[in-house]
Amino acid sequence: MNNPYYSRTDTHTLHVTNAEWKKILPPELYAVARENATERAFTGKYWDADAKGTYYCAVCGNPLFRSDAKFASTCGWPSFFEPTRANSVLYKEDNSYGMHRTEVICARCGSHLGHIFDDGPPPTHKRYCMNSVSLDFEPDSGAR
Ligand code: FE
Repeated sequence: MNNPYYSRTDTHTLHVTNAEWKKILPPELYAVARENATERAFTGKYWDADAKGTYYCAVCGNPLFRSDAKFASTCGWPSFFEPTRANSVLYKEDNSYGMHRTEVICARCGSHLGHIFDDGPPPTHKRYCMNSVSLDFEPDSGAR
């Protein structure tokens, strides 16, 4: 993928139009990240992954979650109890489909990542329910 906006170190907020993202992102990532689609449960590549490493935003490279904060969830999507930094993500009310949910978006590029729920494990009791397609995993060096 030739994505000039992708960086794991640049923290500047991106202002890129959907028309531009559409030219850059694979269709399945564009649908989730920019049109709030949800991947089918148990179909993503990370829902039952447990390797040590970091999960980055697949759209822009922003570090989002560490594997230490990932927990085994039966929901079929990768689930975390906290982001790597409080300001890695932003929250937005989502009242679509007749539900009251809180959407989680990447703080750097504004892409949709998933939703947050209050049924997670300690210490936060939050469940960041993410789409695998929105994440880009890098194993720790020396780990597998
Ligand atoms: Fe991002």
